[in-house]
Amino acid sequence: MPVIAVDGPAASGKGTLARRLAEHFGFHWLDTGLLYRAVAARVPDGAPDQAIAVARTFDAAWLADAALRGEASGRRASQVSAIPEVRAALLAYQRDFARQAPGAVLDGRDIGTVVCPDADAKLFVTAKVEVRAARRLKELRDAGTQTIYAAVLQDLIERDRRDTERAAAPLKAAADALMLDTSGLDADQAFAAALALIGPQMI
Ligand code: C5P
Repeated sequence: MPVIAVDGPAASGKGTLARRLAEHFGFHWLDTGLLYRAVAARVPDGAPDQAIAVARTFDAAWLADAALRGEASGRRASQVSAIPEVRAALLAYQRDFARQAPGAVLDGRDIGTVVCPDADAKLFVTAKVEVRAARRLKELRDAGTQTIYAAVLQDLIERDRRDTERAAAPLKAAADALMLDTSGLDADQAFAAALALIGPQMI
């Protein structure tokens, strides 16, 4: 089955892009960050042993929780996601998801490198950290969360560092990834650019 891997740092626009690509091709879509967020939500103090035990009982029903989308949840997810056994426990679910007919789009940090190294198309979506912080700030404010630009920027810088520097499946572009910088693009332009890179025909 065709698979599109979409990787990139937080607030790069990869989630919106992955969703739109899935709609366009009629494929299933999985935001893999939600898996790590769901595990982290069940381990309030981040204890590694507990996180591993929770990840081993992972249930897709956990993904429906709207509270997982918040900033604190993302920060905790980036801590538990550095634990190799947590990543290993979540791998089978992601790979099974990717095998579904008529095709799948998965977005995350390690889809093109670890989860689906044989993906038919791999996109690595980036944007300048200041642009990502401004976008995230707008999203948070639109959702009614009180915060300031400096705090959002700091949080993204820390998350980028943790995700890039960890030993287990760090955030990095696959050697054969198509690079897409969305710094100067809105969502429609990013989608058009992604389609042009992938080619309109996936099936
Ligand atoms: O993409 P999102 O911001 O929801 O991801 C939350 C955290 O989960 C990331 O900061 C990253 O540490 C982790 N993650 C990961 N591998 C993925 C997806 C997310 O390590 N494939």
